[in-house]
Amino acid sequence: MLERIRIVLIGTSHPGNIGGVARAMHNMGLADLALVAPRCDVITQDSISRASGADHLLHQATVHSTLEAAVADCTLAVGASARSRTLPWPMISPRELAERLPSECQPDSARVALVFGREDSGLTNAELQRCHAHVHIPTNADFSSLNLAAAVQVIAYECRMAWLSQQHIQQQAAATASSAPENDEALATHAELERYFEHLERTLIAIEFHDPAQPRQLMARLRRLYLRARPEKMEMNILRGILSAMEKAADQR
Ligand code: SAH
Repeated sequence: MLERIRIVLIGTSHPGNIGGVARAMHNMGLADLALVAPRCDVITQDSISRASGADHLLHQATVHSTLEAAVADCTLAVGASARSRTLPWPMISPRELAERLPSECQPDSARVALVFGREDSGLTNAELQRCHAHVHIPTNADFSSLNLAAAVQVIAYECRMAWLSQQHIQQQAAATASSAPENDEALATHAELERYFEHLERTLIAIEFHDPAQPRQLMARLRRLYLRARPEKMEMNILRGILSAMEKAADQR
């Protein structure tokens, strides 16, 4: 999923910010960086130093003269902006954006563009209107503009969290599929449980805990308890062993 997300920077004017973006991206596992009409050199001492070891992203970055060219192959483009607009665009939070990513990044060929504006003037209305949605990082209303690399960091973090939870769900599904119980992990069958319930009832009568003339739903409640626990065969054997020992003790008494 992460390899299908492209960070697009429009008209960036400080190499240090481009380096900071590369670092934020690499920290979160993103690698596709596209620059639209940058207003500065991309590979400079400043950008390399701010990239702190992620400068391969700077070397791999693609440079385009227009936003259209940078996002031509994308099926979803989302523009990041601190400002609301006179003609409001569908607005989402970084988390809402992230929740959409697992499905938006399907199939393998899908590409999602996250578009960021200039340090001094952000995205124009025309640029935002080329995007499907406007993502706004919730901030102090009186001081809403983050540094470019910081804004990328916040959104890239949400992308990573969405990816991690997708991984987690997939791992759980794989674990459930591969945990077809075997040997002593196998679950007790219906017939084994029924034999156990009969044995349990007999024993409870023998130790005078249970009076079949006044059942008070006891066996139903116990059934519910054991069925909830999904006992394994081996556990069932232990429980039956306990019942046999109780029966023996009751006999001796
Ligand atoms: N002064 C500019 C903001 C520049 S910050 C303006 O008035 O719009 C550089 C870029 O970082 C912005 O264009 C935007 O893409 C991103 N950014 C900064 N703060 C943001 C926020 N609160 N929500 C979403 N994106 C933000």
